[in-house]
Amino acid sequence: MNNQAELISIGNELLSGRTLNTHGQDLGTALAAIGLQLVRDTTIPDDIPTIGSAIKEAMGRVDLVFASGGLGPTVDDITRDALGRLLERKIVLHLPTVNHLKGWYQKRGRTITDAGKRQALVLENSAVLPNSVGAAPGQRIDLSAGKTLFVLPGPPNEFNAILSEEIVPWLQDRYADARPRLVRIVHTKGIGESDIVTILEKANFQSGGIDLGFYPGGGKVEIRLVANPEKEPEILGAEQQLRDLLADFLDLE
Ligand code: AMP
Ligand code: MG
Repeated sequence: MNNQAELISIGNELLSGRTLNTHGQDLGTALAAIGLQLVRDTTIPDDIPTIGSAIKEAMGRVDLVFASGGLGPTVDDITRDALGRLLERKIVLHLPTVNHLKGWYQKRGRTITDAGKRQALVLENSAVLPNSVGAAPGQRIDLSAGKTLFVLPGPPNEFNAILSEEIVPWLQDRYADARPRLVRIVHTKGIGESDIVTILEKANFQSGGIDLGFYPGGGKVEIRLVANPEKEPEILGAEQQLRDLLADFLDLE
């Protein structure tokens, strides 16, 4: 069981520039907090063969795959059909969700239509993950070799509600030994990236297996050090070295 996850973000509007894909940021943050790592976010159009191949490829690389978008009632919502074909599973109506949807529509002074009911269609044998803020539920599909596929609706508030209420607790239980990676941050100002690198190279600075990231913006550079939990002495040592070498440029505000 590895601690790596991939996200498949589904939607033409994410590729055309109509909509900013926020799921990667939200999922990456939520997973990092419980010691798991989002290692890839693939954005693809609403197209059945593309959805099938992207999910299949991701399942070949990691144990946890998240697919989002395309679960609504309209003609472009084809994610469950793509999954049914890929996994050779029937699509069935989930009656508790139909009842939830009836109440959901009623509260809004509407009655449910056949199109609305489509949101209660799920893959056979999936665990249905209730949606406390919207209509279409999420699904957890347990596959062979301990692999798990999560399917989530597109609206960010619904994606995040199911993630925090249903998925994170399940993952915390499943990956009880996972620990968040260590993160240390050094802020600099008044010096550009290339001059920082020159100082580090002259001093022969070695990161010692720590992941280093340089994030310039607004005349400042944020240097992020990230390491696995057992590397605490190494990350603190590397941080101190950076603070010593860049002492004249530290942004301590
Ligand atoms: P869908 O689930 O594809 O019907 O999408 C429902 C709504 O969620 C639409 O307004 C989408 O643009 C939005 N949405 C879908 N995926 C994302 C995403 N990755 N980031 C932000 N919004 C999204
Ligand atoms: Mg869509």
